Amino acid sequence: MSEQTKKCSKCGEVKAKSEFYKKKASKDGVKPECKVCQSAYSAKYRAENREKVKARHAKYRAENREKVKARETKYRAENRERLSVRDAKYKKDNLEKGRVYTQRRRARKANAQGTHTADQLKARFDYHGNKCVYCNSTEDLHADHMIPLSRGGTNFASNMVPACASCNTSKGAKTPIEFADYTFKQLQAMLGK
Ligand SMILES: [Zn+2]
Ligand SMILES: [Zn+2]
Repeated sequence: MSEQTKKCSKCGEVKAKSEFYKKKASKDGVKPECKVCQSAYSAKYRAENREKVKARHAKYRAENREKVKARETKYRAENRERLSVRDAKYKKDNLEKGRVYTQRRRARKANAQGTHTADQLKARFDYHGNKCVYCNSTEDLHADHMIPLSRGGTNFASNMVPACASCNTSKGAKTPIEFADYTFKQLQAMLGK
């Protein structure tokens, strides 16, 4: 056995010294058990002493409130960019997923055919420039069934378009042609024709 290797006291395997955690106080500078055995032991210990470990952490946090808070503030400050990117991604991912779930629920209720994934829906939104297909607004976009489910439309991505909340609501169960007609008549009324 060379200087660079060591036999694990637990599993008995001869491994490189780098496979052992450091321990300054010991003669050869590392712990007697290898990292694998050490991690297995730690995991087992944590599982068996979950409550105890939790209580110790809570106690530590309570006794070191200021220190813990300062460390968290420092961490957030040093990782602001990364954390805000992560938060934004989380929000966005869940916005798209939320749209898919809403449509799936509505499709099931209407006995409509088809499904789509969040990725497919995103592709449809991207295709339409992430703008409402009826008024070009970019605000508060919803996924609209172009041909309404109640009119035989499917829940396939091909029937999905981005629509702003306002258009989505006033379109309701109208087909795109009916909606255009409705919008046109509204415009006529507004102009007093
Ligand atoms: Zn071992
Ligand atoms: Zn709109």
